[in-house]
Amino acid sequence: MTYPHTQLFINGQWQDAADGRTLPVFNPATGQEIGRVAHAGKADLDRALEAAQKGFETWRDMNPAARSAIMRKAAGFMRERAAEIAPLLTQEQGKPLPEAKGEAMAAADIIEWFAEEGFRVYGRLVPSRYRPEVRQMVLKDPVGPVAAFTPWNFPINQIVRKVGAALAAGCSMLVKAPEETPAAAAALIKAFADAGLPPGVLGLVYGNPAEISGYLIPHPVIRKITFTGSTPVGKQLAGLAGQHMKRVTMELGGHAPVIVCEDADIALAVKSAGAAKFRNAGQVCISPTRFLVHESVKNDFAQAMAKYAQGLKVGDGLQEGTQMGPLANPRRLTAMGEFHADAVEKGAQVLAGGKRIGDAGNFWEPTVLLDVPLEAKLFNDEPFGPVAGIRGFTNLDEAIREANRLSYGLAGYAFTRSLKNADLLSRRVEVGMLWINMPAMPSAEMPFGGIKDSGYGSEGGPEALEAYLNARSVAVMNV
Ligand code: NAD
Repeated sequence: MTYPHTQLFINGQWQDAADGRTLPVFNPATGQEIGRVAHAGKADLDRALEAAQKGFETWRDMNPAARSAIMRKAAGFMRERAAEIAPLLTQEQGKPLPEAKGEAMAAADIIEWFAEEGFRVYGRLVPSRYRPEVRQMVLKDPVGPVAAFTPWNFPINQIVRKVGAALAAGCSMLVKAPEETPAAAAALIKAFADAGLPPGVLGLVYGNPAEISGYLIPHPVIRKITFTGSTPVGKQLAGLAGQHMKRVTMELGGHAPVIVCEDADIALAVKSAGAAKFRNAGQVCISPTRFLVHESVKNDFAQAMAKYAQGLKVGDGLQEGTQMGPLANPRRLTAMGEFHADAVEKGAQVLAGGKRIGDAGNFWEPTVLLDVPLEAKLFNDEPFGPVAGIRGFTNLDEAIREANRLSYGLAGYAFTRSLKNADLLSRRVEVGMLWINMPAMPSAEMPFGGIKDSGYGSEGGPEALEAYLNARSVAVMNV
């Protein structure tokens, strides 16, 4: 199985770093180095910034139909190439091949939706309250060159939501993609390059994340920052952006509650929440993490979840039939050990999993813990791994209070057959995205993003474009 050397993409050219520096890339299923990625230095960033400014001026002045045609072509390439891109993504990130292929295919849908939405960047005409001969206009203009920082859990998806919206709005974007999973990200950028995107409209760099963000965020060329990653890093970057009065979109961590009411369809809850829990080995910002189950159905639910977890085939994502791959990096393996030991020490009962598998690669057993105490780390910090913690509740208000206890507010799930419960949950659970009686089903046309410490701004729906637009007032007096 081949794996490429990944280069930077600056001013429409694939290139190594000016000083030749590279970083290693590892396969999380084996722990072996599989390739290298170029490490940008200041000289590379300066060239990328200059190109982003020129690219912006070109792209801003193209009409929406011309922009849309290029974006649609890129979407077509993603669909055609999904089967070639998937093994790259699996080798560097670990997720099973069908999930990797699904990610590349979904990128095509997202690009196409934004390609259409780009036609609908409208302004307004507003009658003057003072003078009939005044024509007041609200103009929507692209904010300018954007710096995007994206993580390793969905190397394609996390970029495409940003790129799709930014390009549709007429912005250029310089992407600092994840060093741990560089090849899939490069394949996405290549689809746009091959579709005829003018030089500089999209740039791609890798390197030292803190050095790059510390240079790009204050830089005068950059007019907006968008980041997906952990809440602590997001707060740091938003703080820096604030000092330089840059607009931001922050898609940060979550700790999704799953409320299973006494009248829930338990089989549906286990199937939907189980699949969501162990997808991408739990390394998903909207992954269900705190299972709050009515006492009357708690044991049935917990046993069924344990059976579901034990039935999963864990292995190298390249092997056919693998349902859960390794964790993406050794840091997550260490974190799983800590979450588990802490929960067990505080009294949680292990119903499934709880150990590392083998000693090569970052494999952790799909784990189910029952009666996790509220003070356990697992019920407070984002686990970002294949661990389901379950607790009982006796009335819905208590479950909603627990759902809202943490500072996170990204995703939530609930299972109930009662319209009254569903209505109460819709109004009271403090999350940016709530799914009731179903698995998570994010799509390009729906807002995607969190509230509270999970960030602000949306990466879906018309709101995603607004984030890349300035609204300006212009009034003209007919003299
Ligand atoms: P981390 O906090 O070190 O990094 C998270 C991401 O931010 C990485 O992609 C990293 O490259 C980037 N980053 C870190 N410091 C940065 C800086 N100063 N400037 C710019 N980018 C920076 O954590 P990690 O070990 O890579 O990931 C673990 C945690 O990150 C998880 O527990 C989870 O909370 C969070 N995470 C969230 C998402 C998400 O989809 N929201 C994705 C990946 C990771």
